[in-house]
Amino acid sequence: MKNIPFHKTYLPRTTLCSIKDVLDSGWLTSGPRVKTFEQEFGNHLGTRHNIATSSCTAALHLAYLSHDVGPGDEIIVPSFTFCSTINTIVHTGATPIFCDIDEKTLCIDYKCVKKLITKKTKGVVVVHFAGMPADMDGINQLAKKHGLFIIEDAAHAFGAKYKGSFIGTGDNTTCFSFYATKNLTTIEGGMLTTSNDKIANSSRVMSFHGISKDAWKRYSKEGSWKYDVVSPGYKYNLTDIQAAIGLEQLQHIKAITRKRNQIVGWYRKYLGINRNLILPSDPPYENSTHAWHLFTIRLSSNSSISRDQLIEELKNKKIGTSVHFIPNHLQTYYKNKYGKISLPVTESIYTSILSLPLFIELTESKVRYVSNTINDITYK
Ligand SMILES: *Cc1c(COP(=O)(O)O)cnc(C)c1O
Repeated sequence: MKNIPFHKTYLPRTTLCSIKDVLDSGWLTSGPRVKTFEQEFGNHLGTRHNIATSSCTAALHLAYLSHDVGPGDEIIVPSFTFCSTINTIVHTGATPIFCDIDEKTLCIDYKCVKKLITKKTKGVVVVHFAGMPADMDGINQLAKKHGLFIIEDAAHAFGAKYKGSFIGTGDNTTCFSFYATKNLTTIEGGMLTTSNDKIANSSRVMSFHGISKDAWKRYSKEGSWKYDVVSPGYKYNLTDIQAAIGLEQLQHIKAITRKRNQIVGWYRKYLGINRNLILPSDPPYENSTHAWHLFTIRLSSNSSISRDQLIEELKNKKIGTSVHFIPNHLQTYYKNKYGKISLPVTESIYTSILSLPLFIELTESKVRYVSNTINDITYK
């Protein structure tokens, strides 16, 4: 078997034509295609406001700013996430308060959130890990009781459903990623969704230099040369070329989703027999859907091989894997700044977890090869 990478981005054949159309149109940066992409994205999920951004990181930063997060505020956030969820809290001057996760869903643990709430707590960040919708009911109630906002990091969760509703359609500000590895990609890009008019307006304004109103129109027929800076904003806009790539992906989203689920089924079929592994489960609540951004296996405690050794052996067989995530409280900057923090579930999951290849071009024989190789190594 040839080299099987951890990821390969799926780009429908028609993508090239769409990019050419954008280049020929003469409008390259944020313009009509970004508007269409925002609308189509919103139509797909049923979200009210959709603000396209240059990345999920940018969307998260805008979300915090729009909820008035700043110096003196504490934001409760899982350590088990990509660093950008946390870094952007620090950019606002606020303090991230690292929280442990639930052993089954690997999403933030409601019981741990409760213990961390202080007078300074302003909000909670929920990360829908690997595409598993987090159990929102308890956290939503807790937030309501204490007057906290919730921001959902849905970088993995495009298409995930919690109790009948798509992630992003509730009352919480939600941030999606269209990075090259994500289920829906614009290569780099993101989207902030909200049902709140004020949050939507402030996020939109701050995403483009703090300029009021649709500034891109100033270069178009209906626009004028006048603009007004109402706040020192950022340059977080998506381009029309990226939006065109995203629109192509949206056209194929049903097939993309079907294929991801099929691959997960194959992994379960071939790895399910291996008692040294713990496989990810479906959402443990009714009417809920996993987005299957990642398929993460865990080595059980009786495994004779370490996770790090497994990665090396798979690498020798030319099988790419990855680890999501190295907990942020163990990263140099955060360790030095906040000292030793103990998050037992996060730490134990981190040392045993591994993400397997999961991309559209995988075939059943490749998944069988990856699975059998893992079975051979971990049964030793
Ligand atoms: C990918 C990712 C991000 C950042 O997304 P970008 O679009 O690359 O900025 C944030 N949070 C999580 C959980 C991610 O996996």
